[in-house]
Amino acid sequence: MRAPKRIIVKLGTGVLTSEGGQLNAGRISAVCGEIAELRQSGTEVLVVSSGAVGLGMHAMGLSRRPRELTKRQACAAIGQSRLMQVWQEAFSPFNLTAAQVLLTHDDLRVRNRYLGVQETLRQIGAYGAVPVINENDTVSAAEIKFGDNDTLSAMVASLVSADLLIILSTAPGLIDLKGTGKVVPIVEKITPEIEAMAGGTTSETAVGGMVSKLTAAKIANRAGCGVFIASGSEPAIISRLLGGAGPGTFFVPSGLPLEAKKRWIAYFQRPTGTIQVDIRAAQALRNGGRSLLAVGVTGTDGSFEAGDVVNIAGPDGAPFARGKSAYGSVQIKALLGKKDVVVVHRNDLALL
Ligand code: GLU
Repeated sequence: MRAPKRIIVKLGTGVLTSEGGQLNAGRISAVCGEIAELRQSGTEVLVVSSGAVGLGMHAMGLSRRPRELTKRQACAAIGQSRLMQVWQEAFSPFNLTAAQVLLTHDDLRVRNRYLGVQETLRQIGAYGAVPVINENDTVSAAEIKFGDNDTLSAMVASLVSADLLIILSTAPGLIDLKGTGKVVPIVEKITPEIEAMAGGTTSETAVGGMVSKLTAAKIANRAGCGVFIASGSEPAIISRLLGGAGPGTFFVPSGLPLEAKKRWIAYFQRPTGTIQVDIRAAQALRNGGRSLLAVGVTGTDGSFEAGDVVNIAGPDGAPFARGKSAYGSVQIKALLGKKDVVVVHRNDLALL
């Protein structure tokens, strides 16, 4: 594999901490060493690090993840500063500087904030520092959460157009539980059979599990980014993966990458509204790369404003695309049947 230009390394709580919730300083230091080597060879590295809630729990002497959101948010506040301290201490021997970046979903969903984050990450890279990104759990309420850092890492991969996303967790890769019982080395396409191999997580601190790792792989693959899922407890795992000899699962980015703006439309939103279209319009959008005209619209669901990103669903009710609507839901009702009115321009429309 040629030296990648930019990679994301995502570490789960289970990789960063040992049994009992203490930080595994040796492992973090080893990862920093690998990152330093990559940087020497000209590869930019961005880290997505979990661990805030887990470290906060440990500091407060809690062995179970609190059920109340407020308690988890407080734990994140307590743990996040410790987390950054550890990263900076581990980077220092390699003369690297960590840059804490805390994001909420809104920071990437709202277009101008998304562009702002992109610029800032670029500048951190230009300074030669290493972004250490986590969700801003302390202020992320349930409805504005990414949900898990696997998804966050894939969104970051898409945002910075990374070549590779390496997800390190306690899992050795995607395991074919129904078949061979072994790690699947390479996945060319995430089919329903592949999805059936993923089970949820049972760990006390982990959030995502394999299901969210597959979702992350899909988002990153659509951005032209290859994805590794591997065990963070394997020595020198990053360089072994990059050398093509690492144990783990590689998800191949297939097809042409979706352009950046369309990725933002397809994967960074949580639409509150839907535009329903008839079968002919659905086909025109699916196959013809056309704009959605009012004549093809049969109705709307939910309330939205002009400029909002909405789901687009065919007669079966299943959303097959997302797009930025030129009109609000109330206006659309008055436009139904009109041939010359563009409701969603093809440049603002992404197939799911
Ligand atoms: N942001 C959470 C933390 O730092 C972890 C979320 C996750 O592991 O997916 O504790």
